[in-house]
Order: sequence, then C-alpha cells, then structure tokens
Amino acid sequence: GFPEPVQLSPSSYWILRFPYVYEDENQIYTPPKEVTWNRAHGNQIHLQDCRISEKIMDDVKQGIQYAFQTQNTLTLAISGTGHAGMEAAICNLVERNDVVLIGINGIWGERAADMATRQGADVRTISKPAGENFSLDDIEAALAQHKPALLFLAQGESSTGVVQHIEGVGALCKTHGCLLLVDTVASLGGEPFYMDRWQVDVAYTGSQKVLGAPPGTAPISFGPRAVAKIAGRKTPISSFYFDMNWLGNYWGCDNQPRKYHHTAPISSIYALREALALLASEGLENSWKRHRQCRDRLISGLAKLNLEPLASNPAARLTCITAVQVPDGVDWKSVTSHAMSMQRVEIAGGLGPTAGRIWRIGLMGQNATEERVDRVLDVLAESIKGPTVMGR
Ligand code: PMP
Repeated sequence: GFPEPVQLSPSSYWILRFPYVYEDENQIYTPPKEVTWNRAHGNQIHLQDCRISEKIMDDVKQGIQYAFQTQNTLTLAISGTGHAGMEAAICNLVERNDVVLIGINGIWGERAADMATRQGADVRTISKPAGENFSLDDIEAALAQHKPALLFLAQGESSTGVVQHIEGVGALCKTHGCLLLVDTVASLGGEPFYMDRWQVDVAYTGSQKVLGAPPGTAPISFGPRAVAKIAGRKTPISSFYFDMNWLGNYWGCDNQPRKYHHTAPISSIYALREALALLASEGLENSWKRHRQCRDRLISGLAKLNLEPLASNPAARLTCITAVQVPDGVDWKSVTSHAMSMQRVEIAGGLGPTAGRIWRIGLMGQNATEERVDRVLDVLAESIKGPTVMGR
C-alpha cells in the first residue's frame, strides 16, 4: 500500500472534455453552441482571451500541485519539453561557483551536470553503474564530503529503467543545508511522489510521459527554500525565458497583476489541463498501482522468454520503463526494426552507455494496460525469433 495522497477537493474537479465547459454557469466559458466564435477567423475560439487563459492556467496550476502532491505557490508549466524544465530548475537555483552534486546512473545525471557546468557551477558527481540506484547511505556520505548547495537526482532514470528512491533524501539534504532537485519526467504519475512530505525543493516533469499530453509543457514546482535561494541570488538569473520571477508572475503565483512575459502555448496548456484532469479523476494512487501491475506483468512475461531486466534488484526497477538485457547473439536493432515495421510497436534501444546492450519498453499513461503488456511481449517474442515467424 501507498500512503494516501492528498486528494483534490470534489468541488475543484473540473469537467474537462473538449470543448472546455465549466460546472459553474457564471464562468466565462459556456457550452460550445453558445461560445462566441471569432468570426473573423472562421469557426475558431479566440484562445488568447486573457480571462479564459487565466482560468485555464489556474486550473493547470492546481492540477500540477495535485500531481506533485505539493502546496507550493510557485507551481506552473514551463513552455517547453522536459529539458526546459531541467534547464529552468538549474538556471534559477545555481550561481557561479556553487557546489552542485549530481547523481549519475544514466544519461539524465550527465545532462544535469552539463547544464550546471554551463551555469559556472563547481560540479561534483556520484555514480552508479547502469541498472543501479543510490542508497541513503551513498547520498549522505556524498553530502558530507562535498557540502553541495544543490543535489540533483532523477527519480525515473529512463535510460536504464531504474527508480531512485526519494523518500528520506529531502531530510538528509535539509540537515546538510542543501536543496534537493528531482527530475520526475519519466516517473510522475507512475511512481509515488510526495513533494511536500519528502521535502523535495524543486521537481519538474514533462507533459508527454505518464500524463500522455502532447509534448511541449513541463510542469515544475519550487518549494519555500528554493524560492528563498532565488530571492537571495547575488547574480541575475542567466535566462530571461526561464526566469522564475517573471514566470511566477505570469502564472499568477505572486498575487501581482500578470504581466506579459511570453506567448503561452495555450493549446498545449489546454491539453495539459485535460491530461491532469484525467489523472485526477483516475486518482494518483490508482495510476501508481496500474503502472506497478503492468510492470510486474511485463517482468513475469519476460522471464518466460528467458529475458532479464537490466536492474537485477527488483526494488530498483522503474514502473514506467523496463530495460531488458539483449541476449548474447541477438542483434538488438533488427528486433526493434522488425517490431516497428511489422507490428507498429516501438521498442527503444539503450542510450549512452547502455546503447546496444538493452531494449527499453515504455508502458506509461494510456499504454499502461494489461493488453498492451501482452501485446508488446508477443511482438518482442516474435521479433526475436525473426522474419520467418512473422510470415514475411
Ligand atoms: N528527464 C528524463 C528522466 C527523461 O526521460 C526525459 C525524456 N526522455 C527528459 C528528462 C527530457 O525530456 P524531453 O525529451 O521532453 O525534453
């Protein structure tokens, strides 16, 4: 069982089927037949109407708070993909010569280290081989040794199919006077995450993974200690576009009148709102369970095919993405090409150090169903056997 997540209050559930219809009749949006069409542009709703956009943005903020399990005021969606969330977190939190500690057990730590280096940070790293994660002891020892201002960890290391346990890390960071930044791009909604309870200072995710919205928005949240760090910076934030002072104002997080900062990709934000509403109506705890059950079903199916996950420790296996070792003598690429060309099933290869060594099977969001698990297992089995079996 999971600790119960904080629920959205029933009154804050949105009725969210396209087109956007509000429960409350006094809201500016009315059902489609009564929408004031912008005739000048044919039958298009005038999406830039700022009152509509503000309400949509407020809904999105609330949905992101639910998804991260946080009450942080500075919570919003960055206009950009997961990398933009990562870059925004790092450029706001890091000043030149700050010691930044990065956990590297796949490519995401490497990229975070690259970004922090570009901010002039004094980057220190701790590493684990692909397929492993960091223990609390590993982390505590590194915090004591390096005395960083910021620690970066990826909860879902998608290049290796590994989950990093975050519970307990926030408390250690607090004791060592360090901020905790967690990448949840490949895990939010699929792995339990309690931002406030676990004392995570900054977290970001991407719209296109478990949330299943189109790519292009990156939910992000900053806790009070992260906000204080930004307020106390001695140097300006290196990026205008990702400056959280501007973005927080734009998203109505500072109780000041909103000022134009950039043009919100409002259609992507509408889509994100729908995705968050679907998550809220399923319930985080149900989504976590569904992802876990699918992962377990996949692993048992793989065992029947004599295929082994990269992570030998079951507790290190991510729910959303499973990395599978390519058996000796099998050409990984011909298997994935076969699966794609014959069955339209995408199985990814490794990334960075795992390239050529593993397949990666993503089962997240709409794809985390028993039927999809069984299908990918069938396709993988047939693709390994080769073209003749597929009846080419
Ligand atoms: N972090 C992790 C853990 C990821 O899996 C990804 C995307 N695969 C990213 C960051 C970057 O996200 P995007 O591709 O949306 O920029």
